[in-house]
Amino acid sequence: MSPEVAEPSPPLPAAVEPALTGLADASWPRRVFAYAIFPVAFFGALLITYACFQEGRAPALATLPGIAFGTLMVILGEWVQPRSALWSKSYGDTPTDLKHVLFSQLLPPPLVELALKATAGVAAVLIAERLGRGLWPVGIPFVLQVALAAVIGEFGQYWWHRLCHESLWFWRFHVTHHSAPRLWWLNAARFHPLDTVFSYTLTILPLILLGCPPEVVAMMATFTAVHGVFQHANIDLRLGPLNWIFSMAELHRWHHSRTLSDANTNYGANIIFWDIVFGTRHLPKDRVHPPADVGFLGDTAFPTTYVGQLWTPFRWGALLVELDQAARSTADTTDAQGVEDAAPASTATE
Ligand SMILES: [Zn+2]
Ligand SMILES: [Zn+2]
Repeated sequence: MSPEVAEPSPPLPAAVEPALTGLADASWPRRVFAYAIFPVAFFGALLITYACFQEGRAPALATLPGIAFGTLMVILGEWVQPRSALWSKSYGDTPTDLKHVLFSQLLPPPLVELALKATAGVAAVLIAERLGRGLWPVGIPFVLQVALAAVIGEFGQYWWHRLCHESLWFWRFHVTHHSAPRLWWLNAARFHPLDTVFSYTLTILPLILLGCPPEVVAMMATFTAVHGVFQHANIDLRLGPLNWIFSMAELHRWHHSRTLSDANTNYGANIIFWDIVFGTRHLPKDRVHPPADVGFLGDTAFPTTYVGQLWTPFRWGALLVELDQAARSTADTTDAQGVEDAAPASTATE
């Protein structure tokens, strides 16, 4: 999150702190559910996609049953074992998130892929002809090819995401994602379409240039879709040691924190590998839960409609002034409340 916009926010008033669920005294079915829901849904979705390849379905269509299964599992998980009561409530954000699904997520990636296949794809064929062989290691097991695609594809995405947080100029493309008033599965789609285009281009371009097979790219589509909805899900879940592989909800919730030192971490979309390499992985052991009050300072002035959010990168200067005013107003209110709370009883009753 850009430092000029979002300074570390003051402590939240007790009234808006959520009633967090925890596992310390939880029953064994609750514990089992917390640890099982993600692996069952995620690896189940990948297996379904793989089975569809084996049946001879086209790679793009083969992803649909797996993604549908993973999405149904996340909806079930939010219903059975929500993480925060605050995130179960609607904030009028659903229509905007649904438009992001259609216009920010479903539309741009296929267009980017078509354009890159017509350019970089042709270059990859020429390179392979020149070398007498493709660059992609098609001979290694399929599961390793998917892991390799995840690591290579995430490198550009990691730096794009980090640049958006560390540069105020680039923050304009990514701020929409952090404007979500809560974390639940549907706001996995809340990205400005330009953010999607840049991020997806940097992810897919090296894979196309290397001649990555369409089945591996399609498997990555299932991986990204199911991981994305779980990453933002309002489910009380745990990953244990898998937190060293996936950039999942326990890590990503810190990334949505209002506190800058927490938010400018965990940039991985699917895997946490590049955060480990570049020292931005963040999962504090001394703090059990990241704050449930997500967003950035001044976000009360950020547009809540899809069209309003589309315009934000193009009216950035004016928007920064509005965000700054909203941030100051929030700080004033908090300060006033803090003074009142701290006032001696005799003063408060006068
Ligand atoms: Zn971010
Ligand atoms: Zn997110």
